[in-house]
Amino acid sequence: MRQKRAKAYRRLLHHYVLHYHFREPYQVLIDPTFAEALVRFQVHEPLKQLGSVLHGKVKPMITQCCIAALYDAENHARNELQNSDEQQTYKQAIALAKTWERRKCNHKGTQTAGACLASVIGEKNQHRYMLAADDVQVRRSLRRSVPGLPIVHYSQSVLVLEPMSDVTEQHIRHMEQSKSALSIEEQRILQTPAFSPASTNANAPSQPAAPKRKRAKGPNPLSVKKSKSAGKSAGKAGGLPEGSAPSKSHATPAGRSGTSSQSYVSSISQPTSQRRRNKKRGRGSHSTVQ
Ligand SMILES: [Zn+2]
Repeated sequence: MRQKRAKAYRRLLHHYVLHYHFREPYQVLIDPTFAEALVRFQVHEPLKQLGSVLHGKVKPMITQCCIAALYDAENHARNELQNSDEQQTYKQAIALAKTWERRKCNHKGTQTAGACLASVIGEKNQHRYMLAADDVQVRRSLRRSVPGLPIVHYSQSVLVLEPMSDVTEQHIRHMEQSKSALSIEEQRILQTPAFSPASTNANAPSQPAAPKRKRAKGPNPLSVKKSKSAGKSAGKAGGLPEGSAPSKSHATPAGRSGTSSQSYVSSISQPTSQRRRNKKRGRGSHSTVQ
């Protein structure tokens, strides 16, 4: 049972970390009733217990109003109830609360613990607080109103992490939907005419891309040269052993070099002969002038 619960808590906290970016040490706001419960249940190492349930390091915090509420309760037990046991409980709770970090709430005049915690946590729990409270009303009101707020409380001396609230589940679903939705720019691109058939036909985008590639491969200059050279080389390479000449596509390196040199020679020889003719004509013309 314990292992099963620990596994469930780990999974639950993983969701809080994933969606709300909780980080260790987890800031746990402790309300007066929880501080009192720690004393009542004689929890020797409250931080260790909180840490084992929340699967991480914990930073306990108490607001100014919440510690003031503990002082008020102690005074009430001493003066009005005259219950020394209860007074002692609150005294110990105050001593414990003094070891925790004091969260400044700057409320003018002490507010009730519930009102103070609600204002400190806020509507969206921006500062990523966790709540440790035993007061049912405080837990219930914050659970219903604030998404992404992990809450722990004591259930018959067993520290319990509350399951995810409906508000939190809805909020996570909403965030995931907004993430998966297309951005304005993406929507604009899809609305362009080039992409409009793609939305109707799934095979359409792959088809226009394929012929473009084929066209690019078609007019490969190397393949054209090979075919010409192969014809010439076939004439020259008639003396070569059979089978070597007709293979136009796979020309031998010797054939390649030969054809290339031939082509170069032919290309060069023509202009040189023309030059010579021109020179001769030029000489003739010059000579006539002189
Ligand atoms: Zn306050």
